[in-house]
Amino acid sequence: MGGDLRIVRCNCGRVQCEAVGDPIVSAVCYCSDCQAGGHQLEALAGGPPVLDPDGGTPYLTFRKDRFKCVEGAELLIGYKLGESAPTQRFVASCCNSGMFLKFAPGFWISAYRKRFAEPLPPIEMRNKTEWRHSALPLPTDAPAYRGFPGRLFWRLIKARVAMLIGR
Ligand SMILES: [Zn+2]
Repeated sequence: MGGDLRIVRCNCGRVQCEAVGDPIVSAVCYCSDCQAGGHQLEALAGGPPVLDPDGGTPYLTFRKDRFKCVEGAELLIGYKLGESAPTQRFVASCCNSGMFLKFAPGFWISAYRKRFAEPLPPIEMRNKTEWRHSALPLPTDAPAYRGFPGRLFWRLIKARVAMLIGR
């Protein structure tokens, strides 16, 4: 899979980004910010869903240097939950599709899984389920964690080291 390109496209097709290779992680997040941020984007006129019906947000997370917008980047608008929020969620303003988020201090981009073309990697973990308030059964496709698990931080550390040594 190493050098494969994954295409991330807005609903109308005017904005297109590319991610290279396998993601750092393929996860679903239930934290309160992801839920509030997802609702904020979904409230935009005509915006397609970014959240799952149970309130989880599925993402594919890539190193910043392995993700770029190749078409329509000028249409991207960043939304925040508050002035001082460290996370910006980028929307393709042509059709109000939530595309990806950037956590300011981070070296990664988390792109909304729903915007990727098939085939998609399996979900590897469900995080922050302490914030999950859905009556729907918790999917059993991947381990679920009340917080952020050590294996998530380990993935990020490995990715950061590989980036620093130029791999
Ligand atoms: Zn669009």
